[in-house]
Amino acid sequence: MNVCQTCGACCASFRVDFHPAELAGGAFAWEAGVPVALTVPVTPAIVRMAGTDAAAPRCVALGGEVGQCVACTIYEARPSPCREFDTAHDACARARQRHGLPPL
Ligand code: SF4
Ligand code: SF4
Repeated sequence: MNVCQTCGACCASFRVDFHPAELAGGAFAWEAGVPVALTVPVTPAIVRMAGTDAAAPRCVALGGEVGQCVACTIYEARPSPCREFDTAHDACARARQRHGLPPL
């Protein structure tokens, strides 16, 4: 199993902002695009995954329990910040630390 499937800390740590063109029906949507209902508008050029700017952030698209077993419920359509983030990113260790998980 991929280590990220037993983690999910980044999906419950950081704001996830992207251009509305990645929403469902948008010109730069991946696969079916991000469902509008899972996002909140920020500016005309920015939408945010709902839940990611909460005091205890957690993306509404994240299923499962952080640090145990998780999955992105819109994986094929997830927005570009999620596609660009991986275990090589410095913020991976910060997110894991935030959730009491050791660095990789
Ligand atoms: S914090 Fe790191 S290990 Fe955890 S899901 Fe994100 S990229 Fe994967
Ligand atoms: S869209 Fe998926 S990969 Fe991106 S933060 Fe939400 S749960 Fe994580």
